[in-house]
Amino acid sequence: MSKNVKMKNRNGACCSKGTKGKHVYFFGAGQSEGNVTMKPLLGGKGANLADMAGLGLPVPAGFTITTEACAKFDQIGEKALHALIGEEVAAALCKLEKTTGKTFGYGDNPLLVSVRSGAAASMPGMMDTVLNLGLNPVTVEAMTARTGNPRFVWDSYRRFIQMFGNVVMGVEHHCFEHELEAVKHSGGYTLDTEMTADDLKEVVARYMRMIKKVKGCDFPTDAMSQLKLGINAVFGSWNNPRAIKYRKMNDIRGLIGTAVNVQAMVFGNSGSNSATGVAFTRDPSTGEHRYFYGEYLINAQGEDVVAGIRTPQQITVKGSREWAKARNIPEAVRKVQYPALEESMPAVFKQLDAIRVKLENHYRDMQDIEFTIEDGKLYMLQTRNGKRTAAAAVKIATDLVKEGLIDEKTAVMRVEPSQLDQLLHPVFVKSAEAKAKRITMGLPASPGAATGQIVFNASSAEKWAAEGKRVILCRVETSPEDIGGMHVAAGILTARGGMTSHAAVVARGMGKCCVSGCGELHISYDKKTIICGKLVMKEGEWISLNGSTGTVYGGQVETEDPKLTGPFAMIMALADKYRKLGVRTNADTPRDAAKAVAFGAEGIGLCRTEHMFFEGHRITSFRRMILVAETVKNLRAAIAASTQKEERGKLEKELAAPLKQYNQALQELLPLQRKDFAGMFKALKGMPCTVRLLDPPLHEFLPQDEAGQAEMARLMGVSKKNIKAVVESLHETNPMLGHRGCRLGISYPEVTEMQVRAICEAAAVVKGSKPEIMVPLVGNVKELASQKALIQKVVAEVEKAKKIRLEIKIGTMIEVPRAAVTADQIAKEADFFSFGTNDLTQMTCAFSRDDAGKFLGEYVSRGFYEYDPFQVLDLDGVGRIIEIALKYGRGVKPDIKIGVCGEHGGDPRTVAFCHDLGFNYVSCSPYRVPIARLAAAQAALKG
Ligand code: PEP
Ligand code: MG
Repeated sequence: MSKNVKMKNRNGACCSKGTKGKHVYFFGAGQSEGNVTMKPLLGGKGANLADMAGLGLPVPAGFTITTEACAKFDQIGEKALHALIGEEVAAALCKLEKTTGKTFGYGDNPLLVSVRSGAAASMPGMMDTVLNLGLNPVTVEAMTARTGNPRFVWDSYRRFIQMFGNVVMGVEHHCFEHELEAVKHSGGYTLDTEMTADDLKEVVARYMRMIKKVKGCDFPTDAMSQLKLGINAVFGSWNNPRAIKYRKMNDIRGLIGTAVNVQAMVFGNSGSNSATGVAFTRDPSTGEHRYFYGEYLINAQGEDVVAGIRTPQQITVKGSREWAKARNIPEAVRKVQYPALEESMPAVFKQLDAIRVKLENHYRDMQDIEFTIEDGKLYMLQTRNGKRTAAAAVKIATDLVKEGLIDEKTAVMRVEPSQLDQLLHPVFVKSAEAKAKRITMGLPASPGAATGQIVFNASSAEKWAAEGKRVILCRVETSPEDIGGMHVAAGILTARGGMTSHAAVVARGMGKCCVSGCGELHISYDKKTIICGKLVMKEGEWISLNGSTGTVYGGQVETEDPKLTGPFAMIMALADKYRKLGVRTNADTPRDAAKAVAFGAEGIGLCRTEHMFFEGHRITSFRRMILVAETVKNLRAAIAASTQKEERGKLEKELAAPLKQYNQALQELLPLQRKDFAGMFKALKGMPCTVRLLDPPLHEFLPQDEAGQAEMARLMGVSKKNIKAVVESLHETNPMLGHRGCRLGISYPEVTEMQVRAICEAAAVVKGSKPEIMVPLVGNVKELASQKALIQKVVAEVEKAKKIRLEIKIGTMIEVPRAAVTADQIAKEADFFSFGTNDLTQMTCAFSRDDAGKFLGEYVSRGFYEYDPFQVLDLDGVGRIIEIALKYGRGVKPDIKIGVCGEHGGDPRTVAFCHDLGFNYVSCSPYRVPIARLAAAQAALKG
C-alpha cells in the first residue's frame, strides 16, 4: 500500500465504514460481505465472487466497489467520488493486504491486483479491465527477488503498461505493437515467448518513452494513483460507445452502472506449472453434456485465451481428442503438443471438475467459469450463468428438468422467447451441403447455416447489409469494435481464436452462425483477399458457413427449415402446459397457414384478404373491377337521386356496361377467393380462421408509374388516359385515413358480398372449418351494423342454397380510437374484438406508419418513447386506449372474445400485457408463433 494510505490506516481509517452508505464489499478467505442476491449492487461478477468465496471455493481475495458508486461517478465526477469512497477503498485494501500477507506498491512481497468491470447484466468484453496493477520499478525488483523469475516479472510489467496505457491512458494498441515488434525483430524472434527478461526490460523502456512522447506525461508509478485511475477507467467504460451499443442491441435497460472488482492477482503466466483457462459446464453451442467443455493455456494470462492469439488446449481428454480429430492432428502429436488439462495437471483437473459439479448444483444452471492455476494451485476467478445459443438454452433447460435440478416452470422461464427465433431459421439442405465445395475447417463456434458475400471489416458489412446484401464478415479475429458489423452479418468467419474467443462468445449471444479459428486461412485486409492454399477469394465472393460443424464452403449452399422436435418440442409442450393465452397467426396463404400450424398456431387471427388479390393473374380481374367501381357507384347514386323516369332510363343504360364489367370481375374473383379460403381452412384442420374483409385503399392495387399504366391499358383494352384518370381519381392526400377498411365495403357492397360468399362456400366444402369474418377500420357502430347486415344476408343465402348451417362469428377490428372509446356500442354488434395495434398506434400517436421511421429512431434514442411504438406496444398511450375499450366492451358483453393482430402480437412484452388483461389470443406472423407461446407461458408463470 502506498505510504499516504498507510498513514490513514494507522489513524484508524481502515476500520471505518464511512457514514455515507457502504460502497465497498470485501470477499475472500472464506468470508464475504456480499452474496448472489446482490447483483444489482455488486454486479454479476462481484456477487458471484462473493458467493463462491462464501461457498469455500478458492477465490483470490478482493473487494467490489458498487454500481451505486459508478452512478455517482457520473453524477458528481471522479474527484468527489474518491472523496466519498476513498476511506472505504483504503480499508478494503488494508484488509486485502492482511489476507494475502502482501503489501500494495511497496515491500518485499508486493500485492498486485486486477481491476475489472462487472455489471448486473453480463456484457462480455464491452468494458475495461486492467491486470497486474501495482507494478512499478520498486515492486518489479521485489518480485524479481522473490520469484527468482525475472522474465515472468518483466513480462507482467510490460503487459500491465500495455493494458493500462491503452485502457486508462488511451494510447493506441498499434503504438505498443510497434515497440514490441521492434524488439522482437532485433532479436530475430517470431513469438513473444521467445523474448528474454532483458528483451522485455527493453520493451518496458521503449513503452515508457513512447507513452511520454504520445501523452506528454510519465507512466504513473505510484500504486495508489494507478488504482484510482484504473477504477475511473472501469467506471468510465460503462458509457463507452461499444458498451452503449451492446446494451442497446441486447435491450439491457434500467441498470445504473458497472461495479469495479479489485482482486488480488494470481499468475497463470508464472511458469510451466501455471495456466489459465475458461470453461463451460455444458456445451454453450449445443447444450450437450458429454464432457467438461473448456480451454486452457499453460503459462498465460486470461486475455491470451480470450484474445485467441495462441491456440488453447482442451480441458478433458475426450474433448481434446475430438478437437484433434477435427484438425487431423494425430493422437501422438496431440498428447505431446496439446495435452488436455486432465493429462498435464491431473490433480488440478480433478479439483476443477469437482468445482464444476458444485457450481452447477449450486446455481442449477450452466456456468461459464474462469480459472487460473498458479504454481499448481487452482484459483476460481469467475462464475456466471453462461451465455448460450437458443439450441443450447432449450437443451439445457429440458435436460436440467430431466436431471431433477430444476422444475418445469423454471425451465420455461430459462429460455428467452425472442432467442427461439434462432431455432426456426434455415439450416443447409443435406444433399446441397454434401455437394458443396469444402474449403477448410474451423471451430463450430456458433451453430446454424449462413451464406453470404465476403466482407473484411465491420463498416463494409454495415454498408453492404444496408444495401440489402447478405454478407459474411471475415476477420483475422474480431474485437468489440466489430460489434456493429457482426450484428448485420449473416455469419462470421475468423482465422484465429478458440471457442471462447470474442467472435465465438459474441456470435453465440447474437445467435449468429460463426466459424472461428480457421488456421488455414490467410486474410489480408489490405488486398481484401482470403487465401487458403492455392485458392484466392476476393471481397464480394460468396462463401457459406456451417456453424454447427465448423465447415467453410465456397459459393452459395441451399438451406432448409429446421426440425422442430426433441428439446424444442419439449419446451414448447411445457409452454403450452402453463400458458393461458391462445396463440394464432397472421397468414394469407395455405402455405403460411400450414407453416404456422407446424409452429403451433391455434388458428388464424388475421387473414389479410387483399394479399390474395396480388397473386398471379387475379390482379387483372381486381383491377378491372376497380376501373369501373367508381363509375358504378356514382351512376347508382345518380339513379337513386333521379326523379325523372326518362333520365333514370338513360342513366341505367349508361350503367349497364360498367356494371357488367364490375360484376364479371367479381365473378372471376369469387372462385379464386373460394379456393384460397378452402386451402386455408384445410391447413387449419378445424381451427378458427379470422378473415378480414378488404382493407387497403384501392389505389394500392393500381400501377402508379407510366410504364405500369401503359401495360394495364394494353391489357384492359382501354386508353392510357382512362387508366391515368382512374388513378388520379383515387388519389388521396392521407390514404391511411381515407377510403379504406369498412368504408370500401360500404361504398362497394358487392366486394363484401363476393368475399363473404367465397368464405361461406369454402366453409361449406371443407368440413369442420371455422371461419370468422372481421370488419376492418370501424370507427362507428353504424358502419359495423351495416356491414354485418350484408354479411348475414349472404350467409343466409349460402345456407339456403347449400342446405347447411354455418356458425360464423362476425366481429371487428378495434384500430380506430373512436371505436375504442365507443366499444360499448360496438360490442353490441360484435362477437369479437381484434385490436389492430398497427393502425391504433398510428392513429393514437399520430405517427404515420409510412413516414414516422424518419424520426422515430431519434425519438427513441432521445427517450421520448422507450421503444419504437410500432414494435413494442406503447403501454402508456395505446395500452390505455386498449384498456378503455376492454372495459367498455366487456361492460356490455362480459365474455366477448378479445385478440390482437397487429405486429405487436409476437412481441414478448406485448404478449405479457395481453395476458395480464385476459385476452383470449394474440396473433402474429408464423415465425413468431413459438416466441408468443413461450412468452405467454412466462407471463402466466410470472403471475
Ligand atoms: C393493424 O392495423 O394492426 C392491422 C393488423 O391491420 P393492417 O396492418 O393490415 O392495417
Ligand atoms: Mg389496420
